[in-house]
Formats: sequence, C-alpha cells, structure tokens
Amino acid sequence: MTARYCLVCGTRLRPVREHGRTRRRCPKCGWTFYDNPVPAAVALVERGDRVLLVRRARPPYAGTWDLPGGFLEAGETPERGLRRELREELGLEVQRPRLMGFATDRYGPGGFPVLTVIYAVTAGPGRLRIADDVSGARWVPKGRVPFGTIAFRGLRRFLRRALSATGGR
Ligand SMILES: [Zn+2]
Repeated sequence: MTARYCLVCGTRLRPVREHGRTRRRCPKCGWTFYDNPVPAAVALVERGDRVLLVRRARPPYAGTWDLPGGFLEAGETPERGLRRELREELGLEVQRPRLMGFATDRYGPGGFPVLTVIYAVTAGPGRLRIADDVSGARWVPKGRVPFGTIAFRGLRRFLRRALSATGGR
C-alpha cells in the first residue's frame, strides 16, 4: 500500500531515493510519504493458566485468531490505548499490564506497516462482552496456543518465542 497523491496539496507524488530507500515525495510542496509503521497495542490476557484468543470479524484476515487490542489514537500512551480497546472490544478491565515486547507486521498482505506493542495483562473479574470487531473468543491453555491460526506473522513469531520460553510450545 502506498500513497499516490500529496496529502497536503493533492499533487501526484514522485519516487525519490533517500538513505537507500525509495520514498514518494510531492514535487510541488515537498511533502513525503514515509510509510512509517502505525502503532498498535495488544494484550496476552491471562486468567489462571489460560490465555485469551479472539477471532477477527473484519479484514484483513477475517476469521483468523488474534490477540485483542487495536490502533492507538493520537495522544494516547500504548497502555491507555490498550485499556480502551479491551474495554470496547470485550468489556474487559485490564489489571497489571506488563510490557512483553514488540512485533512488526503488515496490516494484511501488502498493507501498511504496523508496530505492535504487546502486554501481558491479568483479566479483571466479570464475563466478556464481545463487540463487533470480534466474532468469537476462547481461553486456551498457555502451553497449547495454536500458533498456526494466528495470521499476523510477526505476532505469531513473537508469541511462539515468548510462550515457549515460559514452558509452552
Ligand atoms: Zn504537495
């Protein structure tokens, strides 16, 4: 995915080489499309020995399993964005968020780049209330996460490594 027109003045962008990368720049006003990753925050929600997977209701990768979370809004810290997303998607209050690390992905094949901040969190009390971004949710034993059903490759790789380090596989 790439921008073809200047976001500021609407002129058609032209490719330029810069620091070994091809970028697209506006010949009229100089605005550049950098294709920087968009930040997102997701949670590995733990309840006892199990973790929560959610089924994506929307493209990309509709029908595959994922961690709950979403894109940050302007001015939000990752932790605040995570709390908002989990409240909206699942009606879930987050306890004790612990930063696990980062994954890089594309938002679908050929999609824009995403930088995902991954937290481990403890699920607050109460039942899940599933909203429309999600078409299902299930708790799976930490050692039996079906990695192959997670469509985002960077996230899948991260989880495989993180969970096998703690005794899963
Ligand atoms: Zn322009």
